Amino acid sequence: MQFKLTDTRPEIQRRYQDPHQYPEGVAFQDGQYIPVSEAKISVIDYGFLHSDATYDTVTVWNGAFFRLGLHLDRFFSSMEKLSLSIEFTRDELTEILMNCVALSGLKRAYVEMICTRGCSPSFSRDPRDAINRFLAFAIPLGFIANDEQMKRGLHVAVSDIVRIPPQSVNSSVKNYHWLDLVLGLMQGYEKSGETVLLVDMQGNITEGPGFNVFIVKSGVLSTPRTGVLHGITRQTVFDLCEILDHKVRSREVPRDELMQADEVFITSSAGGIMPVTRVDDCPIANGEVGPITKEVKDLYWERHEFSDWITPVEYFS
Ligand SMILES: *Cc1c(COP(=O)(O)O)cnc(C)c1O
Repeated sequence: MQFKLTDTRPEIQRRYQDPHQYPEGVAFQDGQYIPVSEAKISVIDYGFLHSDATYDTVTVWNGAFFRLGLHLDRFFSSMEKLSLSIEFTRDELTEILMNCVALSGLKRAYVEMICTRGCSPSFSRDPRDAINRFLAFAIPLGFIANDEQMKRGLHVAVSDIVRIPPQSVNSSVKNYHWLDLVLGLMQGYEKSGETVLLVDMQGNITEGPGFNVFIVKSGVLSTPRTGVLHGITRQTVFDLCEILDHKVRSREVPRDELMQADEVFITSSAGGIMPVTRVDDCPIANGEVGPITKEVKDLYWERHEFSDWITPVEYFS
């Protein structure tokens, strides 16, 4: 039944239409492939009401998924840690993601798979009563950093907002507990940062909204060990360092070490290896993109042609 408004003036009618703008793209929901604008979630889904959900994001670059296997491993492991499940096997999930991309026709895509707690028929508070919901979609790929920022390096602020500790929410589960990250980002913008890094209770650096961070000092790379998502791009940096014969450590990284680093970069599937040249409005070293950052970034993109790390999409025409 459609809600009928007696006032037919267009300016009044417009209020009752969906004002949101959607990117092009294809979603999978309840066994069907639909435009992203039509994918919907119930207002009483606990994924929405309680952020009771997990997800993963994988990219498609020039028609091929990058490190899809690692993203699927993490998605299934995240679901297990939250006692969530989907009715699809790993192969079936792969086919769904492939179909979303193939139907969208996108050669460069941002692909997200989501499992929410779902709804329970009686609105029961017991999470075991809920029927878990699965959704996936493919939309055009966007980077955290734009072209100019990639070239000159990002300007990052450090927020004093403490990242949700892993003792509260398991940071190895990719999750939608983002209020600390979002408010940190707002604070970062006020301090003329383009993005933000959050600290932990001890004042060590953790991560930012959807990315991990690395510092380089005297040729050695370091990245925060605890209280962070184990990013697939972070893992890829470890793999690239082995190829390049660079030392890389996962350890506590105090805020001061970030400021005194020779080089800083952030990592995410949405953008890869992104240089940082200013932190809290101070230049990192000479304020230019460093040689190791450049070397790791170049190899990262070269590896997008490496057959072991990619899964080509079969497009329909
Ligand atoms: C997704 C995400 C990252 C980066 O992970 P990748 O697998 O490299 O994309 C880092 N931190 C948080 C909080 C994230 O959600």
